[in-house]
Amino acid sequence: MKLRTVIAVALCKLLAWGARKLRRGGTAMPGRWALKLCPDLAGTLAKGVNILVITGTNGKTTTSHMVEEAFSEEGLSYLANRSGANLLSGIVTAFAQESTMTGRCRRRWAVIECDEAACRRALGYLQPRAVVVTNLFRDQLDRYGEVTHTLENIREGLKNTPDAVLCLNADCSLTSSLAEDLPNPVRWYGLEATAAAQGAGAPALSDATRCIRCKTEYVYDYFIYGHLGGFRCPNCGYARHGADVAVTAINALTGEGSEITLRAGTETRRVRVNLPAVYNVYNAAAAVTGLAAMGLGLDRAVSAVEHVRSGFGRMERFGLGASGTLVTLVKNPAGCDQVLRFLEALDGPMVLALLLNDNAADGTDVSWIWDADFESFAEKAGERLQGVTVGGTRAWDMLLRLKYAGLDPARIAVERESEALLDRLEQAEAPVYIMPTYTALMELRPHLLRRCGGRDFWEG
Ligand SMILES: [Zn+2]
Repeated sequence: MKLRTVIAVALCKLLAWGARKLRRGGTAMPGRWALKLCPDLAGTLAKGVNILVITGTNGKTTTSHMVEEAFSEEGLSYLANRSGANLLSGIVTAFAQESTMTGRCRRRWAVIECDEAACRRALGYLQPRAVVVTNLFRDQLDRYGEVTHTLENIREGLKNTPDAVLCLNADCSLTSSLAEDLPNPVRWYGLEATAAAQGAGAPALSDATRCIRCKTEYVYDYFIYGHLGGFRCPNCGYARHGADVAVTAINALTGEGSEITLRAGTETRRVRVNLPAVYNVYNAAAAVTGLAAMGLGLDRAVSAVEHVRSGFGRMERFGLGASGTLVTLVKNPAGCDQVLRFLEALDGPMVLALLLNDNAADGTDVSWIWDADFESFAEKAGERLQGVTVGGTRAWDMLLRLKYAGLDPARIAVERESEALLDRLEQAEAPVYIMPTYTALMELRPHLLRRCGGRDFWEG
């Protein structure tokens, strides 16, 4: 038994080392082989580690990053799995790389992003101290069948770890139902009516219109987006639970981020979330709740949430193309330069798409592109570009800009239509980088999510 562990760990380390050398992304592969040798390896490796597991349809990675930031600021020795490796195999790979040959983990803390379907097996092995379930949305249906099946996977996993503090999104009627029949202590987070932009009624686009208990149509006192909001069933009384960590106001919401008022217990803070859109407000609340469950203070959690932003621009990763796709919002010369410098510093070939819109939210004046240093980029990375596509309402301005920067216009494609653009990028062998302006991103993102199975994450 002991020897089997040693061999499995050694194999996992070796394969991970090899994959790194060959620059293969596959961080799940080493764990997969190790698990064949030693199916309960995760349990051995995770022993004695304070683990926070984050699962749910959307927001896993951003929430994980916020938690990581807090762990890091707190000076904790921790490990984390990478977003593309959130099945049990990827989790095992992450642990094996931080463990001794006998399977003892060198880190005392861990932030583990776990695929919903993988929860069934993983949670029992990991015995986490807390589990955050961000939300459940339908874009998992294709992969996992009924959304209730996904819920069942999480529920079954949680049954094997009854002491874990369950951190649930109170605004999500689906995940809330986990609290119904599990013994786990629960902490709730959510957006209050005072933070809602939309009042009572019924959400236009909802994944869960009917009561999960009795199938009666929900009544909403307010809603945020999708099926998230102040739901209640007029028949059986199943309703949104009061939140322990509550966003009581969204004071400002821009393409840059938001400023929110957050109440945790008796304390209230104004928090700046440096990632755009309301779903990142949820991620912030999820992180604060998870961190509290792990015993970290509110000030540390707030600081981490505020610090998760990009060094070089927000990066969102999608499984499009053979080597994946990274999407980074650009909107001004300074931000654009940061992304270009980041791309210059990478080695290996790349495929680039620049999407320039001139709608009000982008700024109608697109002359800023002439202030961004595309010259340096063309000089340093031009040779490595395996394809450049421009798009958006001002695609031709972008084309002209790149031409003056020194890129051969004959090698630049113009594609204004999202689906056609993604068809093209999907063929890419090299990593794809998409740099859209704000409204171009908003336009493209749903198409990307639909194609890539709803993976959704921002990298700081
Ligand atoms: Zn009901």
